[in-house]
Amino acid sequence: MTSIGFVGLGRMGLPMALNLVRAGHRVAGFDLSAAALEAFAAAGGTLATSAAEAARGAEVIITMLPAGRHVRDAWLGEGGMAAAASADALLLDCSTIDVGTARELARTLGARMLDAPVSGGVMGAEAGTLTFMVGGEAAAFAAADPILASMGRKRVHCGAAGAGQAAKACNNMLLAISMIGTCEAFVLAERLGLSHQALFDVASTSSGQCWSLNTYCPVPGPVPSSPANRDYAPGFATALMVKDLGLAQQAAEEYGAATPLGQMALELYESFAAEDGSALDFSAIIGMLRGQPR
Ligand code: NAD
Repeated sequence: MTSIGFVGLGRMGLPMALNLVRAGHRVAGFDLSAAALEAFAAAGGTLATSAAEAARGAEVIITMLPAGRHVRDAWLGEGGMAAAASADALLLDCSTIDVGTARELARTLGARMLDAPVSGGVMGAEAGTLTFMVGGEAAAFAAADPILASMGRKRVHCGAAGAGQAAKACNNMLLAISMIGTCEAFVLAERLGLSHQALFDVASTSSGQCWSLNTYCPVPGPVPSSPANRDYAPGFATALMVKDLGLAQQAAEEYGAATPLGQMALELYESFAAEDGSALDFSAIIGMLRGQPR
C-alpha cells in the first residue's frame, strides 16, 4: 500500500483516484470544487482540506488539473505542494499542459518529478485502461510504474522531462490533421457521387488508411463504433482538441518548428468550436467542412 495525495478530482481525476483506492492505496484527495470532493468521499476516498495537506506525508503526489498555470500554482504557488511534500516523494503530473511548464517543474522540483499525460479519455480513466506518456528520469519512471499500472494499461517512457507532453502534443496534432484530411476526402467523394462505403473500402485498405478513417470513421456506416453513428457524441470533444492543438502550436513557436498544417487545423477547430461544435466529437468537423449547418 502506498500513501498517495491526489489533486484534481474532475472528469478524469476522480475515476483515476478511485482506481488507486480500489488497488488498495491510501489516497487523500483534494479539489477546489465541493461537488468533486463530495463525489470522491461518497466513493470511499479520504478528503484533504488543501493541496498542501494532500501532499503532506504522501509517498506519491499526483496532479490532474486543467492547464499549466493551475499545475504551476498547485506545486509552486504560495502554500503549494512543493513546500509540503517530503523530500523523497515521487511527483507525477498527469494533466495535459505545455512542454515549457513541464520542463520548468522538473528543473525546480528535481529528478523525482515526472510529466505523465494520458490518452484514453474518461472511459479509459474509468476502466483503468489509460495510456501514460511519461517524461523524466528512468529511475523515477520505474518507481512510478506500479502506481501508473493501477490507472492505465500502457506506460511509455518517452524520454527526459517534458517528453511525455511533447509526445502528446505531436500525436494529437497529427490526429487533428489526419481527421480533417479524412473528412475532406469524404466531402469530395459526396460531391463526386462516390458512396461513403466505396471510399472506405478502397482508402481503408490503400495508402489513405489511417486511424481517423479505419477506426474512427467520421461518417456513419463503415465503422459502427465511431461517434458518427451516435450523432457525434464524444469520444474526444472538440474543446479538448482545440486545447491540445493550442499546446502543439505553442510548442512549435517556442521551439522553432514549422507546423503550417497544425496551425491550420487549430484555426479550423477553433471555428468549429465557435459554431457550437465544442461539445461534439472532433470528427463532427465534417459538417463544417461540408458547409452545412448541423
Ligand atoms: P475537469 O475540468 O473535469 O477537472 C479538473 C479539476 O481540477 C476540476 O474538478 C477543478 O475543480 C480542479 N481544479 C482546478 N484547479 C485546481 C486547484 N488549484 N486545486 C485543486 N483542484 C483544482 O478536467 P478533466 O477532463 O478531468 O481534465 C483534466 C486534465 O486531463 C486536463 O489537463 C485535460 O486536458 C486532460 N485530459 C482530459 C481528457 C478528457 O477526456 N477529459 C483526456 C485526456 C487528457
